[in-house]
Amino acid sequence: MAFVRFDSFAIGDAVENEIGCQYPASYEGLRQQILRRDGWKCQSCGAMANLEVHHMEVRSHLGADSENNLITLCTACHSRAHRR
Ligand SMILES: [Zn+2]
Ligand SMILES: [Zn+2]
Repeated sequence: MAFVRFDSFAIGDAVENEIGCQYPASYEGLRQQILRRDGWKCQSCGAMANLEVHHMEVRSHLGADSENNLITLCTACHSRAHRR
């Protein structure tokens, strides 16, 4: 690995929250990248407000943070995505 990923931070607790996908400040750059890629729209309902970035796969291993694994969702759709 060329650099230290933020996976090495103690983020286990945050990820276990009801609405997960919470990351340290170093995540902001990637987040902006995903939002831009998705046209600043919720990829589920098309909303353009209260956007968050969601991991589509469980963070079961290091390297799961590629942008292919991330999707822009509004707060409402994001909560739904985490509801079981
Ligand atoms: Zn939505
Ligand atoms: Zn999420």
